[in-house]
Amino acid sequence: MADGSAFPPAVRTTCPYCGVGCGVSARAPSPNEGRELAVSGDATHPANLGRLCSKGTALGATVGLEGRLLEPMIGKRTVDWSTAIQHVANGFRKAIAEHGPDSVAFYVSGQLLTEDYYAANKLMKGFIGSGNIDTNSRLCMASAVAAHKQAFGADLVPGCYEDLELADLAVFARQFATMTASGMSLLRSLAILEEQTSSAPLKKALGEVRADVSGGVSLSSSMAKHDRVFPRLMIAMIRLT
Ligand code: SF4
Repeated sequence: MADGSAFPPAVRTTCPYCGVGCGVSARAPSPNEGRELAVSGDATHPANLGRLCSKGTALGATVGLEGRLLEPMIGKRTVDWSTAIQHVANGFRKAIAEHGPDSVAFYVSGQLLTEDYYAANKLMKGFIGSGNIDTNSRLCMASAVAAHKQAFGADLVPGCYEDLELADLAVFARQFATMTASGMSLLRSLAILEEQTSSAPLKKALGEVRADVSGGVSLSSSMAKHDRVFPRLMIAMIRLT
């Protein structure tokens, strides 16, 4: 390198996975570190102050060409793109001829661009003639969006890291959408939160929210009544999948 060091310096960049936008410090590996990029959280970045979740922490392992499929293959045979595309088209054509359009389906990446989704939907719905197309976006985010809208009235991130540090009680659970879709489960959750919290104002608010919800008031409307403890209520209700 120009400065006499053997390897490029670390660069400050951003984790590409989600909207939190954590700061990342990335450095090319030395020969005895293997192929992985050395990745760590950027301690000076305001979004994460040096912390990374498991996805961001594993970013280094996604870099490098070893083990990647770089050319089309049919079985163990490397083929050119025309041959590969023809092979796939023949397979679809045969299945559709024998069993109809609904015998095929696309399960598409959640990380395509809008134009890619358009093309894939057009191919399946417009040309093949089936509605059998879905993406992993539904599993990844749609349930969280539905839960956030039901719980908070909007699809929003309900807190930040600092909220968690300041909260009296934070509950992390799976499948919030399923829980909030069931009134009984939601009431049970509220009762548990109420029992666990040591904060008297929060306990009182949770009791009132629980009474409201059992009387048919929506969770978001009831929570909105509690201005003074609303942030803490929000934190108490955080559910991460
Ligand atoms: S490290 Fe995790 S939380 Fe941060 S941006 Fe990446 S995926 Fe999102």
